[in-house]
Amino acid sequence: MSKLFCYRIRELQKKTEGILIKEKLPLDVLRDFLPSLEFDIEHCTVELDAHLVMHQRDYIGCKGIIQCTLSTNCHRCLEPALFLLDIPIQVLFLPQWEQDDSLPKQPKDLEIDDTSGDESVVDVSFHDGEWVDLVPYLKEQILLMLPLQIFCKEDCLGICQKCGTNRNEKACECEQTELHSFSFRLGGAS
Ligand SMILES: [Zn+2]
Ligand SMILES: [Zn+2]
Repeated sequence: MSKLFCYRIRELQKKTEGILIKEKLPLDVLRDFLPSLEFDIEHCTVELDAHLVMHQRDYIGCKGIIQCTLSTNCHRCLEPALFLLDIPIQVLFLPQWEQDDSLPKQPKDLEIDDTSGDESVVDVSFHDGEWVDLVPYLKEQILLMLPLQIFCKEDCLGICQKCGTNRNEKACECEQTELHSFSFRLGGAS
C-alpha cells in the first residue's frame, strides 16, 4: 500500500467481502484542502469509516461515513469553536475508460446496497484501472458540505460592533442602539 486511501484493484478483486476502512486523513491531506486561515488544522480530525467492495465490470463501491471534527473560531464572537460534521457517502468508482461512454447516471443493475428501501443517491467517480484513490472524492465531499459560517453555539451573541465586548460574556451599553432592537424600543418609549 503506497498511499493512504489508495487501493490496488488487483488486491481488491481477491477480497470477496471487500475491505473495511477506518482511518484518519493525515494532516498534510487536510492542509491541502481545508482553508488554513479559517481552520486550526492541527486540531481538526477527519476519519473515514467505510466499506469498499469490488463489483462486476470493475465497478468499485464505497459506502460509509466521513466524520469530521473541525476546529475553528466562531464567526460571530471569534472564540474557539468545534464543529462536528458527519457526511454519509455512497459512491461507485467506474473505470476511467467508461467516462466518455454514454453511461446511465445511476447504474441500476448493480446491487450495491443490501439495506433495501434505502433510496440514497449514489455518486459516480472514476478509477484508472489499477488503483482506486479515495482522496479526491473525500475532499470533494467535505468541501461540498463545509458550512459557510460556524458558530460556537447556535445563539452566540457575537461581539458588539461598537465597543468590542463579547456579548456572550457581558452585556454592553451600546446594545440598545442596534437596528433590530431600535424600532422595538422606539415603540415602547414615551
Ligand atoms: Zn460565538
Ligand atoms: Zn458595545
